[in-house]
Amino acid sequence: WHEKLFGGFRKTSDRLGENLTGLFGKAALDEATLDEIEEALIASDLGPATAGRIRARLKGEMFDKGLDERALREIVAQEIEKVLAPVAKPLEIEAFPRPQVILVIGVNGSGKTTTIAKLAHLLQEQDYAVMLVAGDTFRAAAIGQLKVWADRIGVPIISGKEGGDAAGLVFEGVKQGTEKGIDVLIVDTAGRLQNKAGLMDELAKIRRVLGRLNPAAPHDVLLVLDATTGQNALSQIEIFKETAGVTGLIMTKLDGTARGGVLVAAAERYGMPVHAIGLGEGVDDLKPFDPAEVARAIAG
Ligand code: GDP
Repeated sequence: WHEKLFGGFRKTSDRLGENLTGLFGKAALDEATLDEIEEALIASDLGPATAGRIRARLKGEMFDKGLDERALREIVAQEIEKVLAPVAKPLEIEAFPRPQVILVIGVNGSGKTTTIAKLAHLLQEQDYAVMLVAGDTFRAAAIGQLKVWADRIGVPIISGKEGGDAAGLVFEGVKQGTEKGIDVLIVDTAGRLQNKAGLMDELAKIRRVLGRLNPAAPHDVLLVLDATTGQNALSQIEIFKETAGVTGLIMTKLDGTARGGVLVAAAERYGMPVHAIGLGEGVDDLKPFDPAEVARAIAG
């Protein structure tokens, strides 16, 4: 996993290095050089606040042998860790009430279906009884794909027909989950951002149904974000955070993208818990993350 993490973030750290090329070796960090460093950090998707703090830390530092790449990457890693540490929170499964209901939202293509399978697998490994609800009833493919995953990892799934009523399925899920002693119910939802009003209405309906069954539900509303979309991932947080009541984030596709810095920008700007990161398409490729390690992997 360690290798996967560092391998996954390599393009991100390489890009950071490329953006900073030309700045190494400078003896005097004058305002113009500091500006250039700050620009390079922003261009690496780390977000303006983190870039500004790194600039402030560098100001006043003396580099008698010239600005050293190692020293700079060390400072970058330390500052990134400070941003990530408060948001890196594994998903908590409460002892009561059961089943704990987790709604998973995100735009189509973000990796939502795969993430649900990975999350279910992760929880299974922790000995939780998990059940899925195929609530993305607008896409026959999404229903089919989730069923394939459920089969593969061996978890029960509640699904209906394409175009069916998602809230009805959720109702059925909670009912059966309670009867069968399920600990965690993971609910897929539609991700058609082009019909935002419809999407939000549907989420509201699911919430109403859940609330009637259990006032604490949904316990979590997880937003799945595709890191490869860079700054676009940030605007999705903006769109969903209020309207959908997002409680936490999962960022996917952090393997092999040069835009991994967006994880830092998201943490910095929104301070929302990041429960896990996706580093591949396999069922084992979702893990809670260690902020120190991820900071090192990004800084390179
Ligand atoms: P959905 O439309 O949001 O449900 O997205 P899917 O779960 O179907 O994923 C879309 C594509 O992204 C699929 O080809 C997945 O295999 C891929 N994918 C999902 N998560 C990851 C990840 O963490 N890393 C990589 N490299 N690919 C991923």
